[in-house]
This record gives sequence, C-alpha cells and structure tokens, in this order.
Amino acid sequence: MTSKIVKLPEDISWKKLKADFLKRNRRWMKKKSGTDKINGALRTIVLACLDSRIPVDLIFDAVPGEILVMKNAGNEISEDVWRSLLLATYGIGARHIIIMGHTHCGTAIRDNESKVSGVKKNIGGETLAKLEDYSGKELADFLGLFNSGDDGIVKNVHGQCAILQKKFDDLIPKKDHPNIVPAMYDIETGELTFL
Ligand SMILES: [Zn+2]
Repeated sequence: MTSKIVKLPEDISWKKLKADFLKRNRRWMKKKSGTDKINGALRTIVLACLDSRIPVDLIFDAVPGEILVMKNAGNEISEDVWRSLLLATYGIGARHIIIMGHTHCGTAIRDNESKVSGVKKNIGGETLAKLEDYSGKELADFLGLFNSGDDGIVKNVHGQCAILQKKFDDLIPKKDHPNIVPAMYDIETGELTFL
C-alpha cells in the first residue's frame, strides 16, 4: 500500500494542527459529493471500530447521505450504541445493521498479558483503581477487551450481533426488527466480507 501519511510529532501545537485541518477541510469542500437533503438513503447502519484504518464511507464507496456510521473501540453494542440504533431505526427508517470487525484490532488483546499489563501501566495504579471502582468492573471488562487473532475478532462480531438481537427480541416488536449482519474488514487488502 502506498501512503503519504506522515506521523506527526507528539508535541505538535494545536495551532499548527488546526491550520492543517482547515486546509484539509477546504479541499473537502471542493470535492464534496452526495446529498445534504437525505439522511440514510441506503437504510443501513454500520457499526465499526474506532481504528483510523477503518474509513467506513470509503470502504462502502458511499457518499454523504447514504450510510449511517457508528464507531467505538471494538465495534461493541454499548448502551449509547443501542440508543443511537433505536433512533436510526425509528427516526430514519434504517433496516439493516452491519457490525463490522477488522483484522489487527487493538481491542483484541484480552489474552495477551503483556499488552494488557502495558495498558494498565500507562493508566497507572491509582487511576486504574478509580476506574475499576467507578465502573464496578475489572479493567478488561470495562474496556471491552476480547481475545486476539481473527478467531477472537470474528467471535466478538458474532457475540455483539447476539447481544443486539437479544435487545431487539426482549424489547422491540418483531415487525420493527432490523436485519443484523456480521462482517469483517481486512485492513491490508481493503476487502469486506459478510460472515
Ligand atoms: Zn479495532
């Protein structure tokens, strides 16, 4: 993959970064496509990982107005994702929900002791204790970590689909249920696969 991406130094000033963002935005304004009239034309929501290598609109070759996108670490059905899905289902008429995992996911470190302890070390003991107390959960559960490897990632996608299906089954009349679809994305080849 060719890339013109340059990693910025950690100490770059906000002033410099802001100027760069505005320059980027002006480029976007010139090539902006899609619509500002219709929201969710493809009646599809994609829940994907926070990871910057997962540009959902680009992956689906979609333009503004077509796909509703939600992102969080590990593409997980949190309470706020559930809230947003309901709003998209009832407010916009979305009928299909794609939960898309990806290769090399940074949330897939639960079974990697050195990575988990690295995160703990970065947080620091005192803050870690506060966070666990606040959430009532052990760190790996609080962060929603799952096991590594494509198996662990695919298993997480299926698990999130099952969690979401159960919420719809328990609370929402069947006639309003959207189609829930598990998917995987390969960050190296760019290939999308429906599972
Ligand atoms: Zn990820």
